Amino acid sequence: MSEEIFKKVVSHSKEYGFVFPSSEIYDGLGAVYDYGQNGVELKNNIRQYWWRSMVQLHENIVGLDSAIFMHPKIWKASGHIDGFSDPMVDNKDSKKRYRADNLLEDQIDKYIKNGKTQKAEELQNALDNAITNNNLEALKYLIIAHEIACPVSGTRNWTDVRQFNLMYKTQMGALAEDAEDVYLRPETAQGIFVNFLNVQKTGRMKIPFGIAQTGKAFRNEVVARGFIMRMREFEQMEMQFFVRPGTEMEWFNKWKESRLQWHLALGTNPDNYRFHEHVKLAHYANAAVDIEYKFPIGFKEVEGIHSRTDFDLSQHQEFSGKKLQYFDPEINQNYVPYVIETSIGLDRMFLVQMCNAFKEEQVQNGEQTETRTLLALPPALAPIKLAVLPLVKKDGLPELARKIMADFKFEFNCHYEEKDSIGKRYRRHDALGTPLCITVDHDSLNDESVTIRHRDTMQQERVKITALKDIIMPQISMNELLRKLN
Ligand code: ATP
Repeated sequence: MSEEIFKKVVSHSKEYGFVFPSSEIYDGLGAVYDYGQNGVELKNNIRQYWWRSMVQLHENIVGLDSAIFMHPKIWKASGHIDGFSDPMVDNKDSKKRYRADNLLEDQIDKYIKNGKTQKAEELQNALDNAITNNNLEALKYLIIAHEIACPVSGTRNWTDVRQFNLMYKTQMGALAEDAEDVYLRPETAQGIFVNFLNVQKTGRMKIPFGIAQTGKAFRNEVVARGFIMRMREFEQMEMQFFVRPGTEMEWFNKWKESRLQWHLALGTNPDNYRFHEHVKLAHYANAAVDIEYKFPIGFKEVEGIHSRTDFDLSQHQEFSGKKLQYFDPEINQNYVPYVIETSIGLDRMFLVQMCNAFKEEQVQNGEQTETRTLLALPPALAPIKLAVLPLVKKDGLPELARKIMADFKFEFNCHYEEKDSIGKRYRRHDALGTPLCITVDHDSLNDESVTIRHRDTMQQERVKITALKDIIMPQISMNELLRKLN
């Protein structure tokens, strides 16, 4: 049932110009997607909500836009060249590739579903052990011992388990012999770390302070599935907050709460969010938590908050040979700052919004009931804020509607539409998530009033054209949303 809803969200996204498979006329490209005319607006609005809440509302957070290409040594220092990999295994008959840990996790789920809790526990422990010790042979042994078959071929004809680095490598320089290997960044965070001193010095930043950045990241995911949940090219919104060593847990807890509030301010039911505390920590972290959202296919990570200690700055200090320290005048000491990171996937947040907003309702139309499909997006994030609709294409109504449009188009994204019956136009804008429609009818020419129709309640009210701005602005403005966070 929930899988069904997820499928509906995927097809709705395509049908209404939100998300298209990349290179579709060439049969697509695995786990790469394009954002259509409405998708790009929604994506920009989410990015803007994040950026303004981080940079504009915090005096001690500033922005950055670092390049995708970076010096290759950066990825050695960060640990990505040696450690950013997934264990993979191929089925020799189907030629399908899987993440070995995912195959085993699916098997654990199967045991749990069949009431074999002890077996599930044993396998979980063995899996944790193998992963912690990076023991690829043990992973292969578990796949064989638990008789795991390929979901496609049904056979157990597996290759050995190998590590598969997720970074894309390319070359910089025209001549093959001089060319240097460079990588497409797998996260935006490193661009922030290597600019730490540039920003601190030129911005005269005092600890604690943060640097925020949004941008593309690339990962050659072994198994990419779940629509835009797991893509090979995606966008991150990351903020690294530099603090005095010893104060990191206080800041970690602060950011954990404040990031959840950012999500909840959009009006999402709090039951659909939860924290997932990491028990096993990455080698660089001393605390980590995910914010998970209940997608129709289950709870999945949307954002990670990590206390990264001084790992990154210390590594870059060592590999670059440049001091990355801060002199703290309050305690008269030099130190390498500790870092709290908040990292959210823009595309995953987009998917949260689509899943959360997608609704099918039964409504009465005269004698008949019909299904109304609606995207109940937070108005401030909606691609189109206002549709201006003349009732008919004549009698001076289009002219008046255009005049109203001309006033509003400087404020926000509005849409003029005169094709189809008014009922059909309302339905189309419900499906696009447009929070407000105004209809210009024959009476409008005399009483200088129009009808406002609200997406969620379908209620209509008659208002003076001169009063429109005061009524509409507070309902759709991102400022109102941001004020909730202050
Ligand atoms: P996962 O466990 O889902 O692979 P991760 O823990 O590797 O994610 P991070 O490296 O912490 O993810 O990245 C931060 C955020 O970036 C994630 O919370 C997620 O929203 C997003 N993200 C990571 N990988 C992808 C991807 N392949 N496609 C889309 N978004 C992604």
